[in-house]
Amino acid sequence: MKTYWQEEIETLPRPKLEQLQLEKFRISLSQALKSPGYAQMYRERGIDQNCLQSLDDVRKLPFTSKEDLRQNYPYNLLTVPKEDVVRMHCTSGTTGNPAAVLYSRHDLHSWANLIARSLYAAGARASDVFQNSSGYGLFTGGLGFQNGAELLGCITIPAGSGNSKRQIKLMRDFGTTCLHAVPSYLGRLHAVFCEMGLDPRRDTSLQRLFIGAEPHSEETRLRIQEMYGCKAYNSFGMTEMNGPGVAFECECQAGMHVWEDCYFLEIVDPETLEAVPDGEIGEMVLTTLDREAMPIIRYRTHDLTRIIAEPCACGRTARRIDRIKGRSDDMFIIKGCNVFPIQIERILMKIAEIGSDYLIVLDSNAEGDYLNVQAELKPEAFTDEYHFLERLRKKIAAEIRDEIQVTPEVTLVAPGALPKNEGKAIRVNDLRKN
Ligand code: AMP
Ligand code: ZN
Repeated sequence: MKTYWQEEIETLPRPKLEQLQLEKFRISLSQALKSPGYAQMYRERGIDQNCLQSLDDVRKLPFTSKEDLRQNYPYNLLTVPKEDVVRMHCTSGTTGNPAAVLYSRHDLHSWANLIARSLYAAGARASDVFQNSSGYGLFTGGLGFQNGAELLGCITIPAGSGNSKRQIKLMRDFGTTCLHAVPSYLGRLHAVFCEMGLDPRRDTSLQRLFIGAEPHSEETRLRIQEMYGCKAYNSFGMTEMNGPGVAFECECQAGMHVWEDCYFLEIVDPETLEAVPDGEIGEMVLTTLDREAMPIIRYRTHDLTRIIAEPCACGRTARRIDRIKGRSDDMFIIKGCNVFPIQIERILMKIAEIGSDYLIVLDSNAEGDYLNVQAELKPEAFTDEYHFLERLRKKIAAEIRDEIQVTPEVTLVAPGALPKNEGKAIRVNDLRKN
């Protein structure tokens, strides 16, 4: 039986894979230089397209930042005639220009193929019914998974975001076996199942969940698996790198394979910008190796992770990255301590009485900055019994203090009481900035 979507490429021995990367990097670089934006950026820095003798030479190339993409918005990084462009997507920046990506037909096919490969690696097959609860539109999670799951051959249901009752009806009527969702939505969807007197473990045919697009802890994954009675596979992507399908967990669920035939992966120290040794956490830097209309060279993702260099039991030779620890720009400093929201999430999700939604509020008063962690109780734990709540608040505060060295205020609220966001969850509200 077939084990891989594209066996030859997925199991390519590392030296051959690296040779392929060098060849494709050279092509990407010379392609990028066809755009007015890169031509100017590189001319100013004296970079020429023949500078890559080995993959180590990649380090001589300048990084590309989100600001570079914004400044070159909308067409300045385009390398092909406009008539060859068939799609655009962009990031959800609220002020100024977003980072926009332009795709040729080749790019769309290559992207869909990577998503099909990813889904296949996590066990999905053409016989699956794949439901996509991502928003369709400028966000890449909608059309990206749509095209990938169709290429794989699944019955693909473009359910779109929200409307949980319809989501559940479609799931039950069409026998959905695979569901793609942002992890924060799955808690809310589960609450709707419960309100309807349904249990997804018993009342659906779900076999696999694909979760990604926002940071989440292993504890959240375990909760989701428990709620739905099936495995949840981590999926990483970002608009600038096409969207989803950059890195994906295989059935081993032990880190995400970065599809290195299509992306060149580096992990650098975010301060010095020098490469860190394998296994150490740093900022991920990615280069597109298979993009025609808009290659991006050494893109600073701001996502923090580490390389898992050991070979994976699945036989794929593409290296894995660990779960994203957070973004360097998500980190906040409170009372002199550096904190990532996911550190707090991990603790909350271990506490049985706490539901899946929480909000971290940072504010200040006459005594200085303070941290308020607001968490929804599970319906079965919801009570106004003061002593019970007080004990729970103290327990949570002590566990968070042990993790981040700052004692938070803890506010426990009713199920569903915290503000909800369609798409990615907003976890931090920093009122100190106002
Ligand atoms: P967007 O371009 O709007 O899709 O956002 C991309 C960003 O979402 C990435 O740079 C990450 O910060 C985050 N992201 C995507 N997938 C994951 C994931 N599996 N785990 C953690 N963060 C993720
Ligand atoms: Zn694997």
